[in-house]
Amino acid sequence: HSVAICEQIGDPATSKGPVERKVLRVITPGTLNEAGLIPDRAQAWCAAVEIDGTQAAVAWCDVASGELFWSQFTMTAPQASGASAPASEATNSDGTSDAETLEHHAAWIGLLSQIAPAEVLVNETSRLRQHAAALTGVISSVVTLRPAWEFDAGRGSELLKQRLRVATLAAFELEGATLALRAIAALLSYAEKSQGRALTHLQAPTPFRSDDTVVIDAIARRTLELVTPLFTDAPAQGTLLSTMDRCMLAAGSRKLRQWMTAPLRHNTATQTRQEAIGWLANVEQQQGLIGHLREQFQSISDIGRIAGRISLRNVKPRECLSLKQSLEALRQVRDQLAQASANAGALPPALQAIHQSLSPDALQNCHAHLAQAIDDQCGLTLRDGGVIRQGFDALLDELRSIQTDSGAFLLAMETRERERTGIANLKVGFNAVHGYYIEITAGQLAKTPTDYQRRQTLKNAERFITPELKAFEEKALSANERALAREKQLFDELLIACDAYVPALQSAAEALSSLDVMAALASFVTQDQWILPTLTADNAIVIEGGRHPMLALTTPDFTPNDTRLNSAARMQIITGPNMGGKSTYMRQVALITVLARLGAPVPAVSARIGEIDRIFTRIGAADDLAGGRSTFMVEMTEAAMVLRQASAQSLVLMDEIGRGTSTSDGLALAWAIAQSLAEDNRCLCLFATHYFELTALEKRVAGLVNVHVGAVEHEHTLVFLHKVEPGPASRSFGIQVARLAGLPDHVMRRAQEKQTELNAAAPAKPQMSLF
Ligand code: ATP
Repeated sequence: HSVAICEQIGDPATSKGPVERKVLRVITPGTLNEAGLIPDRAQAWCAAVEIDGTQAAVAWCDVASGELFWSQFTMTAPQASGASAPASEATNSDGTSDAETLEHHAAWIGLLSQIAPAEVLVNETSRLRQHAAALTGVISSVVTLRPAWEFDAGRGSELLKQRLRVATLAAFELEGATLALRAIAALLSYAEKSQGRALTHLQAPTPFRSDDTVVIDAIARRTLELVTPLFTDAPAQGTLLSTMDRCMLAAGSRKLRQWMTAPLRHNTATQTRQEAIGWLANVEQQQGLIGHLREQFQSISDIGRIAGRISLRNVKPRECLSLKQSLEALRQVRDQLAQASANAGALPPALQAIHQSLSPDALQNCHAHLAQAIDDQCGLTLRDGGVIRQGFDALLDELRSIQTDSGAFLLAMETRERERTGIANLKVGFNAVHGYYIEITAGQLAKTPTDYQRRQTLKNAERFITPELKAFEEKALSANERALAREKQLFDELLIACDAYVPALQSAAEALSSLDVMAALASFVTQDQWILPTLTADNAIVIEGGRHPMLALTTPDFTPNDTRLNSAARMQIITGPNMGGKSTYMRQVALITVLARLGAPVPAVSARIGEIDRIFTRIGAADDLAGGRSTFMVEMTEAAMVLRQASAQSLVLMDEIGRGTSTSDGLALAWAIAQSLAEDNRCLCLFATHYFELTALEKRVAGLVNVHVGAVEHEHTLVFLHKVEPGPASRSFGIQVARLAGLPDHVMRRAQEKQTELNAAAPAKPQMSLF
C-alpha cells in the first residue's frame, strides 16, 4: 500500500479561506526511510526496470542511505525448448507463456531477486506490464506501474547531474547507458515525489556487473539459506547471514548482507578483503585490536541513515546528539587503527581507505557544529524544546530567561501582595487552562483589593488576575512560544549547515560498516580457528577438513570432510544411506565457496577455491501450485535451467534428481542429466542420488568419481558415520531409517517382507557394499 500524508502548510492566522494544504510525503514500500519503520539491519530497496528489445536495465536505490546502483545488459535469447508451453500453462496476450517470458528475462529477474527490492517500478507501456503478476510471484516485491514519460534518459541524466552537483556523468560510466538512465529517471522521480523533496544526499551511482559477482539465483539462495531460512516458520538464526553476523553496527549487518548476496567472482577484489581481515586477525592475536574497536562501535549510531535524514529533513534532534557522540567514537576508531599500524606495520589497502574516510576535516567540523548547537540533555522532539544548547543563541537565551525568571517574579509578587492585602496564605500560581492567578481562600475574600478581577471559582477559594499579572502572563507565554519557534529555526539552520557534511558522513559510515564486517569476520579466525582460504585462478574447489558453517559452531562433534573437485574430478556421485549426511556435505561445500568468494574465513583445515562464476542448486522439491507446476515439473524446470546455464566455472549441487516419477523414468533422467553435466557443461558438480545404478557412470565418464557417506548396522541400530569416502555405496538403509522415524511395527514388517520379495525377484547385482 501507499499512504499519502497531507498537512496544512499555510498559517491559519494569515490565511484567507481554507488554509493551504499539501501532500508532504507518500509512504510506499520501497521509499520508507523513517526511523522505526525500516528494520535496522536490512535495507528497503526501490528498483526500476526498463527493457528495450534485447537490452535490459535495472536501477535501484535506498532512499534512507542515498545509495544508488545500476546495471545494463543484453539478455540472451531463450534457447528453443523444442516444445511449446503446456496447454495448462498461462499464455499472455503476446503469445508467450509466463515461464517463457521469465526464462528469457532470467538475467534481470535474477538480479532483482538478488537485490530483493521492496518495490519495483515498471514502465506501464512496457511488455513487462503483462507479466506483472508473474513478476510479483518470482521476486515477491510490490510492482508499481509508472507512466512512460518518467522513463526518460535525458531527464535521468539531468536529475543525476543536479543531485550530484556535477557537469558530466562521464566519471560514472553512465554516458551512453541510455536504458539505465531511463530506469534511473523513473526511480529518482518516484523517490523524490515520495519524499516531497530532492534527494540531495544521493550517492554516486555504482555500476553493478553480474560478471564481477558469483551469480546465485533465487532458488540457490533460498536452499542454501544464505539470508533467509528455507522454511518461513524456522528461526532466522539458522541462516549463513545470522551465523556470520557478529557485527556491532546495524550498518555492518546491512553491509554483510550485501556481501553475502553478491560474493565476488574475481580474486583481486576478494583478496583485498581477505588481506584486511587477515591483518585484523593478526593484530588482534598480537596486541588485541578488535575488542577495542568493538567497544567504540557500541557508541556509534547509524551515521549513514542519520545523514540521509538530515538531507531529507526528517531527523530527530536526539539523532543529531547521537551523531555527535558517534563522531567522537569514530575519532577513537581512527586513532586505534593508526596506533595499531604504527605497531604492526602498514595498513593493507582496504583498511588504509577506511582510515582515510574516517579522517577528513569535514567530520571534525560537523562534530564542532553539533557540539556547539545541540544540548547534551536534548529532548526527544523539537516540540519539547531544550534542543539547542544554552549560550548558542542570544535571542533564545533571552526568551528562555523570561521563562526561568518567572519563578522569581511570581515569588516576589506573592510576598508583595501578601503584605499589601494582609492575607498570609495568598498564593500566586499557574494553571495550564486558566493561566496565571492569585488565589484567596474563602475566609479571606473580604480583604480582596478592588483591582483584583475574578478569574475562576473553586470550592473553597477564588482565583483572581491583576493587570500586572496579565501583562506578565502575555510576556511569559509568548516567550515560550517564541523560544520554541526560535529553536526550530536554529535547528533548521543547523541542518542546512550539516548538509555540507553529508557526503563525508556517508563515506565515513560506509567505511565503518566495512570495518565492522571485517572485524566481525576476523573474529572467526581468532576465536574459532577458521581459516582464510587460498584463492586460485582455476576452476577447482579443494577443501580439507571442511565443516558446515552453520553447524560447525553449534555441533562440536560434527564430522569434518574433505572435498576435491577439479578438472580431473569434476563431478562426485554421492551415494549412501538416508540421513547419512549427503545434503549437509553438499551444502557445506557450496557455503564454504560462498564464504571464500566474499572474502570471509571458512571452517576448514585448508581450502583452495577457484574463480567460480555461478552456484546452482537442485535440492529438495516443492510444488509450485500458484505457478501451476507439480513437484516433478518444478524439479525438471530447475534441472533444465542448470543444464542450459552452467559453465565449466559453475558449482552445481544436484540432490536426488528424478525422484518424483516412476523408478525407471527417474533413473533414466538422472543418468542423462549427470552425464550431460559432466560431459557437456563440464561444471563442478556434487550429485547425490539413491539410484545406485548411477555409480556405473564412473567407468564411462572421465572426470566423474564416486564417493559415499558411510553407516554401519550395529545390533539392529544404524550408526551414521557422516564421513565422505571414495567409492560407491550399495544401500540406502531406507527401511532402517524409516524405523527410526517411528513407522508402526506392522508397516515395518510388511516393508521388510516386500523388500525380501523384491530382492529375490531382482537379477543378481554385483556386491558393492563398503559399509
Ligand atoms: P537423505 O538421503 O535422507 O536426504 P542425507 O544423506 O541428505 O539424507 P542429511 O540431511 O545431510 O542426510 O543429514 C542428516 C543428519 O545428519 C542431519 O541432521 C545432520 O545434522 C547430520 N549430519 C550430517 N552430516 C554430518 C556431519 N558431517 N557430522 C555430524 N552430523 C552430520
